[in-house]
Amino acid sequence: MVAKKSRVLIVGAGMAGLTTAHRLYTTAPDLFDLTIVDANHRIGGRIFTSEFAGDRVEMGATWIHGIGGSPVYDIACKIHALDDPKPWERMDGYPDDAVTVGEGGVVLDPAMVSSISTLYRTLMDTAKDGGLPASAGPSVGSFLRRGLQAYRGSNRGDVAAEAVEDAVFAMNENTERTYTSADDLEKLNLAAESEYREFPGEQITIAKGYSRVIEHLASVLPAGTIRLGRKVERIEWSPDGGGTTAEQPVKVVLEDGSEMAVDHVVVTVSLGVLKAKGGMEFNPSLPLFKREAIGRLGFGVVNKLFVEVEEGEVMPSMEMAFEKEKKKKKEEDEEGGMRHVAKIPWWMRRTASICPIYNGSRVGLAWFAGKEAMELEKLSDEEIKSGVQDTLDGFKMDRRSSVIERVKRSGWGSDPLFRGSYSYVTVGSSGDDLDLMAEPVPVNGGGEATGRVGPALQILFAGEATHRTHYSTTHGAYFSGIREANRLIQRYSN
Ligand SMILES: Cc1cc2nc3c(=O)[nH]c(=O)nc-3n(C[C@H](O)[C@H](O)[C@H](O)COP(=O)(O)OP(=O)(O)OC[C@H]3O[C@@H](n4cnc5c(N)ncnc54)[C@H](O)[C@@H]3O)c2cc1C
Repeated sequence: MVAKKSRVLIVGAGMAGLTTAHRLYTTAPDLFDLTIVDANHRIGGRIFTSEFAGDRVEMGATWIHGIGGSPVYDIACKIHALDDPKPWERMDGYPDDAVTVGEGGVVLDPAMVSSISTLYRTLMDTAKDGGLPASAGPSVGSFLRRGLQAYRGSNRGDVAAEAVEDAVFAMNENTERTYTSADDLEKLNLAAESEYREFPGEQITIAKGYSRVIEHLASVLPAGTIRLGRKVERIEWSPDGGGTTAEQPVKVVLEDGSEMAVDHVVVTVSLGVLKAKGGMEFNPSLPLFKREAIGRLGFGVVNKLFVEVEEGEVMPSMEMAFEKEKKKKKEEDEEGGMRHVAKIPWWMRRTASICPIYNGSRVGLAWFAGKEAMELEKLSDEEIKSGVQDTLDGFKMDRRSSVIERVKRSGWGSDPLFRGSYSYVTVGSSGDDLDLMAEPVPVNGGGEATGRVGPALQILFAGEATHRTHYSTTHGAYFSGIREANRLIQRYSN
């Protein structure tokens, strides 16, 4: 007799969902009847390789953060995705030739920039090493600012020089905002920094596109496993582990009104979707511990903006140090209802750099976080073009600034399928919340109540926001998919 396969529905065809399916199918093909649904019309989720001005660009995940031990790197090697005859985004690594410029186009003293940036990195390394006393403060933001003050204690400069140092320090903080997605570093949990793990080795991008990794994971699945354009609206489960009926342990209701009865659901939607009212409904509601963890953790917005400059020009490689005084002045001007003195719009003023996507490219890239990233989503292409043009003009050094012809930006914050970019640990949250995110429900399996063997595992959770040490990354999402697939395999091998 052929044993009945367990029905598994995976919600989301991003890195976590596809890894779960790949693992289940390649490890235990006879155990599971697999379906993946995604509301989107493409696979990949926050991995999305696109095109702009004839170049391949990444709208979401861009880097393999350290090649030593990265499963994403291993896959990219295996499928020969790391080389391409065509140039690709950041094929030459992180730009290290960027000139740091102040408003008005003044090239800043490299020795000063280097000592402030070294101070910044030392402070962040100290935070990551851990073991800081409680007095170090709850947030990364306050820890950094105190570090700058302490440095000043022994190296006092004049007011004007300190303002420029502040601008360089803020530039580093703005880069941190895009790394973490925290709009305000005062909300970023300091203690959690020491739990976050990075892989050793080079950080690289994927020549043939990040989406290749995703396509590879999907390629082994039987035709028809992935169903696109299918939005899950509600998941009906049973806290006592008994299932909605014996034959329908979990009922999944789709937007088109159709229903699916399955044994297990693996939810991989973003933390942003779980947080949002109307994002995804659970009936009954998820247990309190889960709702609280979802509420406490942070999920911020990071967007990428690509700009193409006119034929014959090369995008300059530039770090931008905006002075706070000027920002204050602008706010005062705004309050007074007067015209801005500086034409540079507020949503550009926390952008740390604009650099070509590879050396000599006509396409430039700038990263945005928080409020500025959300604003970018609201503006028209024309408004963005003129705001970036004013910025380039304001920082033009001794040359004519390049003329921007076209722009392309991501829009992760307002997209209802994501509602943000990646997760972070807030002050008031902790790594424990990431572990709670990963807990299946019902709690304790509910199996005892029904006399079933093993935990019921009605709803399992994967996705970057469920990984304690690698959250916010593609490899974190990957590891979470392996973890939940193993949990299911383990249940049936008992
Ligand atoms: C701008 C940006 C830059 C980034 N840069 C990097 C980087 O350089 N390196 C790195 O490692 N990581 C980076 N990341 C993070 C990385 O992309 C994510 O951590 C990872 O891709 C998340 O995968 P996931 O499977 O957890 O979630 P997702 O990719 O969000 O997958 C969830 C899926 O669920 C679907 N879905 C949502 N709601 C429903 C519903 N109701 N019904 C059905 N389906 C639904 C969505 O369409 C989506 O496909 C970046 C992300 C962004 C946005």
